[in-house]
Amino acid sequence: MNEAMEASGSPLPLFCDAMLASLARWLRAAGYDTGLAPVDASDRAVLGACRAQSRILLTRDRHLAAHAGKGVVVVLLASDGLDMQAAELAAALGVDWTWAPFSRCLLDNTLLREATPDERTRVPPRARDLPGPFRACPACGRIYWPGSHVRRMQARMQQWNAHTPPKPR
Ligand SMILES: [Zn+2]
Repeated sequence: MNEAMEASGSPLPLFCDAMLASLARWLRAAGYDTGLAPVDASDRAVLGACRAQSRILLTRDRHLAAHAGKGVVVVLLASDGLDMQAAELAAALGVDWTWAPFSRCLLDNTLLREATPDERTRVPPRARDLPGPFRACPACGRIYWPGSHVRRMQARMQQWNAHTPPKPR
């Protein structure tokens, strides 16, 4: 990821309906600016948020997709499984699953920053000697480091890319 891309945010601001919370976390893990609807959000509120923030709506809900109307781009996902959904997004939007790994908080979508030395002391002792990066979320304070969970997620996203190479943009 170069500086200009980081400054302008991810290339495709996205918005997942509440049923796609898991997919939203993976998109954030890949560095994509991804909003997530609260479970109790009405269709109207979801569409309003997409329109106001110029976000592409990702949904499995045909009814919601049919009511999007003008001004909201919708990707209606056909699959239930994460692997298939990842392939669908690569095909529909050219999502690059290795675009900016772990540059956003998985919980709240905030851009991470380098962890301070003080924050690094909160990393479990066994992880402190890892090569990094160690990053922190300015919104919720969560620390991210390249432990086994993060590495497993990165390996899966690399597989998704290998399976369906992203379209050139
Ligand atoms: Zn956070």
